[in-house]
Amino acid sequence: MKRIASFVLFLALYNHNSADAGTNPWAGIKTPVTLGHGAESIGSYTAGCLSGAVELPPNGAGYQVMRLSRHRYYGHPDLKNFIEALGQSAAEQHLGVLLIGDMGQPRGGPTLSGHRSHQTGLDVDVWFLLSKQAESRALAYNERENWNAPSVLRDHSDLIDSRQWSRANEQILQISAEMPEVDRLFVNASVKRELCRTHAGQNWLHKIRPWWKHDDHFHIRLKCPKDSRYCEGQEPLPAGDGCDASLAWWFSAEAKAPAKKLPPPKAPVLPARCNQVLYR
Ligand SMILES: [Zn+2]
Repeated sequence: MKRIASFVLFLALYNHNSADAGTNPWAGIKTPVTLGHGAESIGSYTAGCLSGAVELPPNGAGYQVMRLSRHRYYGHPDLKNFIEALGQSAAEQHLGVLLIGDMGQPRGGPTLSGHRSHQTGLDVDVWFLLSKQAESRALAYNERENWNAPSVLRDHSDLIDSRQWSRANEQILQISAEMPEVDRLFVNASVKRELCRTHAGQNWLHKIRPWWKHDDHFHIRLKCPKDSRYCEGQEPLPAGDGCDASLAWWFSAEAKAPAKKLPPPKAPVLPARCNQVLYR
């Protein structure tokens, strides 16, 4: 457990520090490119790229895209279809409008800030805030830039804030986790603990994984698309609902210890095929 924990800690730090590289060529690219036929996710979630990306329209049934200036609303067509389907479910069940954060860049690849993953067009961040305001109108550009995603935790504690957390949040997580194309979801450990309290033993909890931060949004990761030959998936999740000692660890002193200073990480090494995507 300890070994896993320190590895996980390393990943978290890596994630946090990866805002290196004024030399990152991926961030400046404004258009997708297609190498062969159709879309292709290449490499891993944390070291990869995307050919044939599509743009998620800023407004759709049950969702709206935030932070348009970041230009990270591109993804594999599977991801676009998934978000549109999830939005449709949110609309039909009157859960509020999904506010969509980062997907990927036009050709995927590493970003300048904020994320280590989201590189292959298969990851998306969704705010926990399910907007009722946005049910009746399209949000203005400035609202999408300036609204803050509220945390579902009370005063930076481990406790769920019942003013921000609702049954609709549980429903959206359940609907997402039950969609077969979803590989896993990342949420704050306190969110996972809350779901374990209310839904212990239910199969869909299997895909809901505790992770650092993720208290103002959750992160949905899709499986590698079947026809993406060079896409590398992750190791399978451990069996069970995850409401066990592995969850308890997140609330231990070890997990909460301040992060040690590590040297800045090396930039990820992308598959050679990504050079074709980048320089096409
Ligand atoms: Zn994310």
